[in-house]
Amino acid sequence: MKINFRVYILLLFGLVNTLGLAFIFPQVSRSQNAKVNCPTPALESFVRHQVNRGENLETIAQSYNLKPESIIAMNPNLQNGRLTVGSNILIPPYNGIVIEVPTGQTWRKLGAQYKVRPDILFELNGCQSPGKLAFIPVVNGKRYRPTIAKSPTQPSANATNQPIQVSSYPLSTPGKIALPYGWQINPADNEVFFHSGIDLLANKGSKVQAIAPGTVVLAKEQGSYGNLVIINHSGGLQSRYAHLDNINVTPGQQVQAGDTLGVVGTTGAPNFKQPHLHFEVRSRSSLGWVAKDPKIYLQK
Ligand SMILES: [Zn+2]
Repeated sequence: MKINFRVYILLLFGLVNTLGLAFIFPQVSRSQNAKVNCPTPALESFVRHQVNRGENLETIAQSYNLKPESIIAMNPNLQNGRLTVGSNILIPPYNGIVIEVPTGQTWRKLGAQYKVRPDILFELNGCQSPGKLAFIPVVNGKRYRPTIAKSPTQPSANATNQPIQVSSYPLSTPGKIALPYGWQINPADNEVFFHSGIDLLANKGSKVQAIAPGTVVLAKEQGSYGNLVIINHSGGLQSRYAHLDNINVTPGQQVQAGDTLGVVGTTGAPNFKQPHLHFEVRSRSSLGWVAKDPKIYLQK
């Protein structure tokens, strides 16, 4: 049985639309900026699929005319092979990825970066200027690889599923998770957004440390992330440490688990004011670096 939900209706109001008519005749008013004739934005056209006995990622992807990678990109937990009968997974309307849009981006720039026509991006994303998140369609086998993935230490793609040895915690003492990973509702404006990491509460100035050995591939101010450190690890994994007050490492530097990368701060555009570390773990895939739930790695 397939149950169609419009994701944000589901999240905000818990309403079920079993007929799927909402996809053809959107009933919920969108941003006033959206043009009347604009198709329903891709981000509002996700559906939920309840996993039936006998189904696997391939058969589900086929039934929606999608590639399995597109479904994994929206459901990072599926990379661990967790496809449990009765669970719900998010199905995107097209093959593609959801990105957090860096500040100051235009559809023209994003189109050039991802090799997609800017007018397609405009239409798929509600016929308005880029917001915090954007849906980027990935066309027939065309793969987007962030330039950051071109580090010389980057392992080959077939090493993607090897487990990483996480031997350290990103803070010197465990912090409470103030905002978990995944789809969240922003209490400030009731907007649904995808939180690509976890927010760990910590005092400003607390040491931020590498979770595993690796190579620093980025260490600078980066839009809403603020001061950001990105480390590539073996096994096709990457960790990101954001909103730092200052940074102690430089790109190309090799770090060991527990090495200090910088200290907790409030730089960039954190989701809330209280000082915290925004921490991400990403896995390399054919669609780029896909955010995973960091909690899974910290529980070892
Ligand atoms: Zn965060």
